[in-house]
Amino acid sequence: MSGGRFECIIVGGGHAGAEAAHAAGRMGADTLLITHSRETIAKMSCNPAIGGIAKGQIAREVDALGGLMGQAIDATGIQFRMLNRSKGPAVRSPRAQADKDKYKDYVRGRLEATEGLTIVEGEVDEVLVEDGWTRGVRCADGVEYYADAVVITAGTFLRGVMHMGEEQWAGGRIGEKASNALSDCLRGLGFELGRLKTGTPVRIAGDTIDYDKCERQPGDDEIVPFSFMTEGIEREQVPCWITWTNERIHDLLRANLHRAPMYTGQISSEGPRYCPSIETKIERFADKKRHQVFLEPEDEAGKTVYCNGISTSVPKDVQEEMMRMLPGTERARITTYAYAIEYDYSPARQLRESLETRAVEGLFFAGQINGTSGYEEAAGQGLVAGVNAVRKVRGEEPMVLGRDQAYVGVLIDDLLTKEITEPYRMFTSRAEYRLTLRADNADRRLTPIGREMGVVCDERWARYGRKVEELARLREYLKKTKREGKALWHLLKGADAGLGDELGEHEDVIAMGVGADTVAAAVVDAKYEGYLVKQAKQIESFRKLENVRLPADLDFAGVTHLRNEAKGKLAAFRPATLGQASRIGGITPADITVLQIELKRRL
Ligand code: FAD
Repeated sequence: MSGGRFECIIVGGGHAGAEAAHAAGRMGADTLLITHSRETIAKMSCNPAIGGIAKGQIAREVDALGGLMGQAIDATGIQFRMLNRSKGPAVRSPRAQADKDKYKDYVRGRLEATEGLTIVEGEVDEVLVEDGWTRGVRCADGVEYYADAVVITAGTFLRGVMHMGEEQWAGGRIGEKASNALSDCLRGLGFELGRLKTGTPVRIAGDTIDYDKCERQPGDDEIVPFSFMTEGIEREQVPCWITWTNERIHDLLRANLHRAPMYTGQISSEGPRYCPSIETKIERFADKKRHQVFLEPEDEAGKTVYCNGISTSVPKDVQEEMMRMLPGTERARITTYAYAIEYDYSPARQLRESLETRAVEGLFFAGQINGTSGYEEAAGQGLVAGVNAVRKVRGEEPMVLGRDQAYVGVLIDDLLTKEITEPYRMFTSRAEYRLTLRADNADRRLTPIGREMGVVCDERWARYGRKVEELARLREYLKKTKREGKALWHLLKGADAGLGDELGEHEDVIAMGVGADTVAAAVVDAKYEGYLVKQAKQIESFRKLENVRLPADLDFAGVTHLRNEAKGKLAAFRPATLGQASRIGGITPADITVLQIELKRRL
């Protein structure tokens, strides 16, 4: 039975799928989003928060490109903090706790209001392929939907298996069923699939916590919004709370390690090293007498609270005992038990830079399916895949973001050039040009690109134009206005850090009517001008290799003088550019020279 024809189809309404569907719809494409349930669109499977180190930058990039995430968290955030405020602007990252139900309702509302986007509840079992091209999908109920581009964003659902102590059962997330048929279909299409795992901690009833025993962690006095579209946020914020594990808890966990699936061999796949379970922490950091636990409300009223830092897969009885030993939660009622999940993912070397698969034209993968972890990482990929799916059917060149343009670019490039052995999460240290890739300038880096793609709406574009104009005026003012013989622009670079803080309160600056974020941007531009100029030069030389494209039909095995190891790696990863080739593990500068000679020979 036919459910109709569309320009593109997005499978899965998680954080990747929501951005993909929204972007495609904004581009005017007749788009279909098929997901298990409208109720779970943009559901936060784990931590009820957006942003954090490096992830905050990605959330701002998604926003700058015209995506939903920034506005969603601004509308539904219950506590906002700018992390690393006292450190340099390169590592300053916004983070906010969300009211998680309101967050998903907001995203669903925005999708429902997106013109040209149809949402259908259903389970996709099969991708229809003809002559190497995607032709659509078939759902479990037999209905087929047709399109020449399909984006799969199935998250942790592909052959998902959940673990809690000795118990294990199939599922994509607690209370939801796994997507086994889709996984089998992808394997059948020739995709190599691997296994990864991740875990989540207990949630407890907020009114059963003894907050007197915990340390209060308030939000910032002044909220810096995520979205460049948000004027300002005046809202009562809720506090988070900090408590600590103790040696009694560690002893309890040690005594029960034989019941933790990670240690019994029940789970063999790799979990995220940076986000280890509490049982892994006590093993790995055996000398540490305590570990921090953040009690983070999941809603405005604090009805349920997420216990960040003690993700685990030990059995329920051990979880209960652990909570009785944790200061502040001794009498807490567990509303959801902790569990771990193992799922299939597709190593991303099977993709092109556009996130289209090499094996099937018009088929794109985005989000956790590509081996990443995190809402922001998923959202960034989703937006790129949504844009490129539409561009593919329209016969246009894909949108490819470089490592020098965006964290989203760093993320995709890393996925394409590195072997993933654990869920990939973004860190600022992964970006070599992080002073250029700041949270505060994401709009200047990406809004023009989002506009060109058709995702950035008129209102955002007009706003952006005003900011660029204000920034130019402010720069001019700072360069020509002198204090004690020196231009303010120059003084901003020096030790007079206070000048940057108070600039917004200067009479002249107030009279110019420029926004607070314009002032902040000008201060960073002035202060780091020297470094930014230096980085721009590095980027120029990086671009030299980056701009050399390798022919899609290049037979690496036939390149004379290329080492066998290099031939194998290059054939497996199929880099699109010389720059990408240079970043593949095991590829040496000498291999790059050989490739350069080969390219010259082919001219
Ligand atoms: P998801 O958010 O998983 O969304 C997938 C969507 O696709 C769902 O709506 C689902 O219903 C739908 N879907 C799946 N298959 C089909 C199908 N066949 N047909 C139709 N619809 C389908 N991230 C971290 O950063 N740190 C963590 O510690 C962490 N721990 C986690 C622990 C657990 C137990 C889980 C489940 C997730 C955890 N995450 C963690 C991951 C985080 O939830 C994901 O990174 C993020 O949600 C991925 O977004 P996504 O859009 O790729 O997939």
